[in-house]
Amino acid sequence: MRRILAKVFRSGLRALAAMRSLLPAARGARILTYHSVRPDGPGSRSSFVHPSDFAAQMAWLVGAGYEVVSLARLAEQLAAGQPVPDRWVCITFDDGYADNYQHAFPVLKRHGLPATVFLVTGRIDQDPLFLTQAQIDEMLVGGITFGAHTVDHVSLSSLPPEEARRQIWGSTEQLVQLTSEPPLHFCYPFGHYNATVEGFVRDAGFRTCCTEQAGIVGSGTDPLRLVRAGILGTDSLHDFQLKVRGGYDWWINIYMRLEERRRRRRGGQPA
Ligand SMILES: [Zn+2]
Repeated sequence: MRRILAKVFRSGLRALAAMRSLLPAARGARILTYHSVRPDGPGSRSSFVHPSDFAAQMAWLVGAGYEVVSLARLAEQLAAGQPVPDRWVCITFDDGYADNYQHAFPVLKRHGLPATVFLVTGRIDQDPLFLTQAQIDEMLVGGITFGAHTVDHVSLSSLPPEEARRQIWGSTEQLVQLTSEPPLHFCYPFGHYNATVEGFVRDAGFRTCCTEQAGIVGSGTDPLRLVRAGILGTDSLHDFQLKVRGGYDWWINIYMRLEERRRRRRGGQPA
């Protein structure tokens, strides 16, 4: 019964997303969020994207005439106050899973697409689920950029300010060690931030910062409050296309608000 209800809910959501995608959209670029890319393993089916789905999604972007640009290119455009082209797409991966190297990097390389991977720096070379220095070196040569995602993947807005600052600066310093240059891009774990945390990110010199709110990045968007669209393992290619066109933004934002409400009820801690 639950499965039937879930199916009905998904079909309804898809129909609404399809209708939304036909409405005139705000002008600008779309940033996509991935986490794990692997064929199987632990976690819910939505939490990882199958490598064949990822390959189909990248092939569709290229074939449909989207221009995949780096976050640095997008930041330049925003800083210059220039209009952001509608067919620009940025690809980001949160957390720095080793499967990004095994399953996503070969696809990106084949198409010559840039991407940014946000590292939980405390896990690098420590946890087999996460990237190693050697993999990072190879990916750097292959056009991948690395950004910071704190040392321990913590909810920054739930921490005492000094601890939040240590997590931001600590991951920045570790990124310098790992990539031999200061990172330009930051991403809030769980999308959690507040004015204090935002100040730390600005002071650390980051050029962009990604949130988990969904939307379009247009001229006038604050580069330290970039909106994205999360891609799930349960998304069909049609869902992916609708997400690229903004059809699911409303739903992602409702979902994030519900998650935030659930978190407050848990006493501020992420699930
Ligand atoms: Zn994360």
